[in-house]
Amino acid sequence: MKILSIETSCDETAVSIIEASGDLNSPRFTILGNALYSQISTHAEYGGVFPALAKREHTLNLVPMLKLATEEAFEHASKATQNGAENSTNQTTNKKSENAQETANTELSAELRAQILEILSRENDLGPALLDFLDTHEVFGIDAIAVTQGPGLEPALWVGISFAKALALALNKPIIPVNHMEGHIVSVLTESTELDRNDDIHNSKTNRAVQFPALALLISGGHTELVLSKDWHQYEVIGQTVDDAVGEAFDKVARLMNLPYPGGPKISRLAAESRAENLREKYKTDTTLSYDAGLGEYPWTLPRPMLKSSDFNFSFSGLKTAVLYAVKDKLKNRTDIADISANISTKELHSEHIASKDTPQLSEIEIKTLAEEFENAVTDVLVHKTRKAIEETNAQTLIIGGGVIANTHIREAFKKVADQTGVQLFTPSVSLSTDNSVMIGVAGYLRWIAKDKGILMPENLRKIDGTLDNGDFSMEKLAEFRANGNLSL
Ligand code: ADP
Ligand code: MG
Repeated sequence: MKILSIETSCDETAVSIIEASGDLNSPRFTILGNALYSQISTHAEYGGVFPALAKREHTLNLVPMLKLATEEAFEHASKATQNGAENSTNQTTNKKSENAQETANTELSAELRAQILEILSRENDLGPALLDFLDTHEVFGIDAIAVTQGPGLEPALWVGISFAKALALALNKPIIPVNHMEGHIVSVLTESTELDRNDDIHNSKTNRAVQFPALALLISGGHTELVLSKDWHQYEVIGQTVDDAVGEAFDKVARLMNLPYPGGPKISRLAAESRAENLREKYKTDTTLSYDAGLGEYPWTLPRPMLKSSDFNFSFSGLKTAVLYAVKDKLKNRTDIADISANISTKELHSEHIASKDTPQLSEIEIKTLAEEFENAVTDVLVHKTRKAIEETNAQTLIIGGGVIANTHIREAFKKVADQTGVQLFTPSVSLSTDNSVMIGVAGYLRWIAKDKGILMPENLRKIDGTLDNGDFSMEKLAEFRANGNLSL
């Protein structure tokens, strides 16, 4: 079946069309079209995601993303048809009629148009933009629409949900509500696609089945959770952060280091440079450093919070505070400000977000070694808790999802964990590890074949005149997801 999926839970506006087949034990997926707009630059000056802006950006970008995903899917279909015709001994295949099957009929009645505008009435110009798209473009034939239902930022989520409802009404298709975190978990099931062909981690894991119990570590800007799954669609959150999420800690610590948002990738690059240049050792011996030199000490020793606690919870707020105090301490007696500023010469460290030259700053060597120590501290805690959870739950599979798994050092550390514990490791390709809509389509398909009771059939959307059936999309439900991190839909 073909599923159109929509993701707007945070700061990515994404629409995909995937083709899915197979059962729960051997599902197969092909990405037909995939469009994603990241709002990172919009939120950069706020140092984090700003909900009202996120909503505005989603309303502006959903139709363009739908258009891009649709165009790509048509292209994919026409290539497949051409290949089919070339390979086929029967050259009389009628390409036109095959393509026609991929096109949905979107002649909209006046009543339908009014309903679509009503559903999208709180989403700025999204209603007229969608109608305009439907009037002027061919719509790729799909069987269902999957949409992120939560958890996420409420104003942002509602744009995607309302958009899915309007589109479902226009195309007369069911809606599959999808939990965002489940999306991250099942994103590891995607087959190699053109998008990810070069990612060997991704390719190496195809054709492996998930063995239960499976443990999922979800690490992103909004979440840090250890989820135990005894079977498909059964989830228990066995550990989570008691304060900041891992990605959030990366971003906040980056701010303390005057690095622009999002800080995760920057810190990870600086830490890698620190390791490659062996700066920890250099720091101790480099006599050209006019400060601290000759102390024979490594400049940073950060804590590993909650390493010894008996539960599977995490805490990253204390680590962030430790960085703050360590940086303050380092700068407090600094007099050679001009020299130190001159040290921060790396191009990437210079941006409008770097403090002005007369503010005391860390030197490049200090920034890099701090990045390394911070990354080590985070990795130690994540690895220790996850290992403990693998041992105590007898997990056979370890799935890691969320934007932070783009971090090479953390990835490598978990490969070692897998080697040592014998657990089979699934990590999504880098492009599918941060928020995306492909994973929502994948999760939607698994819900579909499991005949999930939350699925909203088109007749249920249509039967109410005036007021539309909200299905599972109630504010209360969203609030519940947010409060409990509840993964069951
Ligand atoms: P969310 O939408 O919850 O913020 P995403 O899954 O989109 O999460 O991931 C974004 C987060 O991942 C950001 O906090 C970002 O700093 C972090 N991140 C991305 N790449 C890296 C990396 N290489 N190392 C550490 N953190 C990273
Ligand atoms: Mg995001």
